[in-house]
Amino acid sequence: MTADSRPVGPTATASDTTPAAIWPNYGRLEGPVVIIGFGSIGRATLPLIERHFTVDPSQIVVVTPDSENDGILAERGIRKIVATITPENYEETLTPLLAAGPGQAFCVNLSVDTSSLAILTLCRSLGALYIDTVVEPWLGFYYDESTSAADRSNYALRETVLAERRANPGGTTAVSACGANPGMVSWFVKQALLDIAGDTGTLATVPTSRAEWAALMQATGVKGVHIAERDTQRAAKPKDRGTFVNTWSVEGFLSEGQQPAELGWGTHETWEPDNARHHSTGCGAAIFLLQPGANTRVRSWCPTPGAQFGFLVTHNEAISIADYFTVHGPDGGATTSIADAGGAATDAGAAGGAVEFRPTVHYAYHPADDAVLSLHELFGHPGSVQPHQHILGEDEIVDGIDELGVLLYGHAKNAYWYGSRLSIEETRLLAPYQNATGMQVSSAVLAGMVWALENPEEGIVESDDMDFERCLEVQRPYLGPVEGIYTDWTPLVGRRGLFPEDIDESDPWQFRNVLVH
Ligand code: NAD
Repeated sequence: MTADSRPVGPTATASDTTPAAIWPNYGRLEGPVVIIGFGSIGRATLPLIERHFTVDPSQIVVVTPDSENDGILAERGIRKIVATITPENYEETLTPLLAAGPGQAFCVNLSVDTSSLAILTLCRSLGALYIDTVVEPWLGFYYDESTSAADRSNYALRETVLAERRANPGGTTAVSACGANPGMVSWFVKQALLDIAGDTGTLATVPTSRAEWAALMQATGVKGVHIAERDTQRAAKPKDRGTFVNTWSVEGFLSEGQQPAELGWGTHETWEPDNARHHSTGCGAAIFLLQPGANTRVRSWCPTPGAQFGFLVTHNEAISIADYFTVHGPDGGATTSIADAGGAATDAGAAGGAVEFRPTVHYAYHPADDAVLSLHELFGHPGSVQPHQHILGEDEIVDGIDELGVLLYGHAKNAYWYGSRLSIEETRLLAPYQNATGMQVSSAVLAGMVWALENPEEGIVESDDMDFERCLEVQRPYLGPVEGIYTDWTPLVGRRGLFPEDIDESDPWQFRNVLVH
């Protein structure tokens, strides 16, 4: 397999001991900073907030029910409130913290089991800026057997946020689902698209609106996007039986992994699995399968392994990117709250119009090997979750990188992977309390916070709606090597042999060829 590698920027090497003066300051946080949840991403994000904003420790408060990272808070003089946020108590617990003034508050929601929609709405009603990394529901949503698979989908969760945006356009900025993915990968898609368009002679001008971005993707011939990730981080000690090991929230991964597999559904697809289902309401950009995403394998490609299996775990960005890059016919494509010129997703639930083009978009996630083993154990023993959970910390990981990028495929140069190849070694030099996975997420939260501070009256936005160049500029020092690599791999490469296979040789980039079935 050939890979035409093109370094697209300097590798960050600044160490945590580098004088603070070299780290950019992005301004003063005038009011309270309320961090909800303090797990692997919360503790990773705190030092970046302290490093890049002018903020006094007394302004920051962490709300979390657990005591796991209390040492970090004590060391840094940060106040903690022990609370489990619930539908019953969120208003009375959070309102006094967010309204403690004098300046504008910023709520950084990095918890599981709290409703993004409820907290986002409360924040906006109080004039507080808000950011989260996923559209999270209240506890119980993911495992409610009385609801349908459609109701337990990320499509449904995202639609609740879009409905709130339609109902209350504009106002205080709330950034929805802005971590690494969802989040940073939406910015990568735009950069990758510009690279491909430039390299294939398709680029006339850099798009300035959502419709122009979608038209550019259509013009380049891109058929789809994999969020293609390979995490090779590993610890010296192998995983114990009965323990679910991951490099970020085990609880978060378990929840999303047991949601139905979901994907943005492209206009080039000619086949769909028997258990595929469409939604009857909403933007219409995605379908779901009647099977859990973490037990759904797809063929994909990352620079280090080359061809690999990934899990088609549902993610918000699979839907938002597909929605954003949809080209509607003349009667469709109207936007709702955010001006099209600003670049918001079509929000086609409120707009009609025939779909002329849409990319297929989905996650193809090869988590850390210990997490793959954990999934194998989990699905092999239905109905029971491992009694122990463990997130690999930066101190116990011996080597590995989190290679997280986007693979844009189907165009004249076949396929192009663009992403971050951050190692654990480099991460240790960049910031404390995190592994490579955490660093990609926490730095995206930082970028989202900077953007929100610079754009405080944009209403509810997704990462696709934000200024991708500004966000990547902020995030770039924390991403390790960021590279764009062409590959001649397709999901049909190497598939000859001993058994018949259900493949479509007329178009390698059909989902029929990507899905392992
Ligand atoms: P974690 O499991 O390490 O920590 C979760 C934290 O939430 C813990 O401190 C826990 O005590 C707290 N919490 C649980 N219930 C709560 C409640 N009801 N009220 C307040 N706090 C509560 O998880 P993590 O790895 O830090 O991930 C945090 C969130 O970020 C998750 O929603 C996860 O899905 C998301 N995430 C997003 C990305 C991305 O790239 N977009 C990547 C990783 C994680």
